[in-house]
Amino acid sequence: MGIYAWLAGWLDWLRSLFFKREMELALVGLNKGGKSTLVAVGFNMRKMTKGGVTIKMWDLGGQGIPLLVLGNKNDLPGALGVADLTAMMNLPALAEREVCVYSVSCKRKDNIDKVLEWLTRHAKA
Ligand code: GDP
Repeated sequence: MGIYAWLAGWLDWLRSLFFKREMELALVGLNKGGKSTLVAVGFNMRKMTKGGVTIKMWDLGGQGIPLLVLGNKNDLPGALGVADLTAMMNLPALAEREVCVYSVSCKRKDNIDKVLEWLTRHAKA
């Protein structure tokens, strides 16, 4: 492990002693879309790389809430990419809301790091 990685890990740990961040997260998707897998995969990786973030599942509701759209199973043939997902879900219509779209694979752990980074960035201090 390099000195910077070690230092970053140490700072994360130190920060976790003083700051606790919480997140209210609504995970919505098709049955068998991979929601449980994402939580399982993401939670393990978060423990390895980030500290001090608690993820709580919550009900839908309210305005101004940022939206993260994940197209899971991008390892399968025919999976939609970001551009197609954005168009098919008509996301540009949500002009007043912050929207981010990632194409992911929980199986191959593609882009799970980006998802966790987004969640961490949007956690309330
Ligand atoms: P949920 O109903 O949305 O919670 O879906 P699950 O997390 O139970 O996943 C449903 C099935 O899809 C399981 O058999 C998972 O192993 C599988 N699965 C989840 N993520 C992926 C993925 O990225 N790629 C593939 N090929 N299968 C996945």
